[in-house]
Amino acid sequence: MNGQTELHLDLARLRAETPGSAHVLHLNAAGSSLPSRRTLDATLAHLQLEAEIGGYEAADKARATLDGFYPSIARLIGAEPDEIAYVENATRAWDLAFYSLDFKPGDRLLTCVSEYSSNYISYLQVAKKTGAEIVVVPDDAHGQIDVAALERAVDKRTKLISISHIPTQGGLVQPAEAVGRIANDAGVLYILDACQSVGMMPIDVNRLGCDFLSATGRKYMRGPRGTGFLYARTRTTAQIEPIFLDNHAARWTGDNEYTAIADAKRFENWERYFAGVIGLKVAADQANELGMDAVWARLRELADGLRARLKTVKGVTLTDLGVTKGAIVTFSVAGVDHSALKQALRAKAINVSVSTQFSSRLDLKGRGLKDVMRASVHLYNTDTELDRFVSELAKAAAESQ
Ligand SMILES: *Cc1c(COP(=O)(O)O)cnc(C)c1O
Repeated sequence: MNGQTELHLDLARLRAETPGSAHVLHLNAAGSSLPSRRTLDATLAHLQLEAEIGGYEAADKARATLDGFYPSIARLIGAEPDEIAYVENATRAWDLAFYSLDFKPGDRLLTCVSEYSSNYISYLQVAKKTGAEIVVVPDDAHGQIDVAALERAVDKRTKLISISHIPTQGGLVQPAEAVGRIANDAGVLYILDACQSVGMMPIDVNRLGCDFLSATGRKYMRGPRGTGFLYARTRTTAQIEPIFLDNHAARWTGDNEYTAIADAKRFENWERYFAGVIGLKVAADQANELGMDAVWARLRELADGLRARLKTVKGVTLTDLGVTKGAIVTFSVAGVDHSALKQALRAKAINVSVSTQFSSRLDLKGRGLKDVMRASVHLYNTDTELDRFVSELAKAAAESQ
């Protein structure tokens, strides 16, 4: 396993080409990961060019790279370039899909227990406005969506199945492909929030069977902050008109007429963070070059290694759910205030985060957890770092008892 991963990935070089890893022990990829030197340089170079020759002129000069964003993202998720829209973050990308759907009283939308808070707030708002109903499909014994219960829950009133692939608050990887088969068999639209999974694991929208997929740049993709994208499957979503249109998403074809453009760019708007588009394209290219199978194998190796180390620390309980566990490691430390622990680690240049019910109320509340510590690994992390993290964690936890 080890040897195989290293055959594919030059780990020392990946780390050397991550400037931030010289400064911090970063275990917060699920918040915002450290970018590579190549991504940072490409982003900075475009900002520099804008300052030197003007923003519009810089965009003209970088046109080929900017246009290359679409095929690069498409390749990463097995889509067609014209099925990709650049959006400034995952939440807005998801919103553009969700709020463009037309719910009627009694329509049902099916989701999962571990659903992300922003998505759930949107369900509540749309349910309040339209009379649609939210159905939360229970978890199975592994803590992932109960696929059989989902299948039973689908009925004639079901308008949408919408889940998060990997929640923000743990290692759980939802059986998103099985969910997709159920959605596709029933002819029900399927939105997949893949904010944490794109860049962490291989993603193939055709295998997943999703109609829409949203993702952010700064997490596992290692792109700049303030970037993201939406995938919209042409075959099933071409007739869906976006909730917002502007002069980029539509053409003003007559005094009293407009025509939304045909491809996924109809979900975009005109102004954007061009340096960020370039940075995210470069980050996607790097992920494509490394190969997502190798990245996924290495990230699981790191995360499993971290879980094994954490098991040896007094007072630590691992809180990750699911059959397959990804690169987000969560745990609680008995008798310790997690936020204070995070701050104590921050003072030692160790970055972790705390997931609270603010991020996923149903899941954490249901498990009786106020919050959990979250340590999320990426390619620049090393086994030596994990050793150091766990020893500092044990020390800090003992001090704050
Ligand atoms: C972080 C996260 C989001 C929000 O992404 P933004 O880019 O901050 O909008 C959505 N869903 C999940 C599961 C997340 O972890």
